[in-house]
Amino acid sequence: MPEIARKIEGLVDRLANRLIWRFARQRRRLETETPLISFTFDDVPDTALDHGAAILERHGVRGTFYIAGGLASQVEPGRTLISPAGCGELLARGHEIGCHTFSHRRMRDLSALGQDLDRNAAYLEGVGVATAPANFAFPYNAAWPLARPELRRRYRTCRAAGEAINRGMVDPLMLKAVEIRQPEQHARELTRWIDDVVEHPGWLVFFTHDIAPSPTPYGCTPETFDHLVRHAVDKGCQVLPVDQVLGRINW
Ligand SMILES: [Zn+2]
Repeated sequence: MPEIARKIEGLVDRLANRLIWRFARQRRRLETETPLISFTFDDVPDTALDHGAAILERHGVRGTFYIAGGLASQVEPGRTLISPAGCGELLARGHEIGCHTFSHRRMRDLSALGQDLDRNAAYLEGVGVATAPANFAFPYNAAWPLARPELRRRYRTCRAAGEAINRGMVDPLMLKAVEIRQPEQHARELTRWIDDVVEHPGWLVFFTHDIAPSPTPYGCTPETFDHLVRHAVDKGCQVLPVDQVLGRINW
């Protein structure tokens, strides 16, 4: 895609998200005295299972993995996407599987959104997810107002980006999240978000992609991921998959 087209696409993504955050009315009060943190993964690269899930488990916690069935086992520069067996493994080890569409396209480019979401639910059922996923993450973090009715019918929450902690009145169809990504030093310093949520409790959702010794620009190393999870646990945060947080806050 030419550079100018990509820039316009990014601009539309940001504008649509901003409008939804500003004007959407379906909000719920998020009340918590305990700082809540969810570590989430998009797409999902196989290293998120090999390193990411393993690190969470070492600290006695679990995460949420937003899977797009259409990417299964795909080999891309710098990463290979998780296989059906890998998804089953995540599930067996107590992690939550969320939906990230089947085709991994932007909401506004999906003319048959319902069909795509059905297809992903069928894919996930095939890998052992007994009930349809309750939580969703937008591909490219790009929401779209017209997709909201369909998403509301299917999911308890949808996650975008937004670089903020969820506090006060929150739109469940537009959860905010903080990205863990390169450069490595930037990723390590994300502990400041954890300190922030400890000081003023709310729900901090992190998202990332690969956890690898040589990560893509959209991931981090196992050492850095371990550093963040350890910090969250040491500071007394409750680290839970997205769906379990919803139980905690009575949504
Ligand atoms: Zn994605």
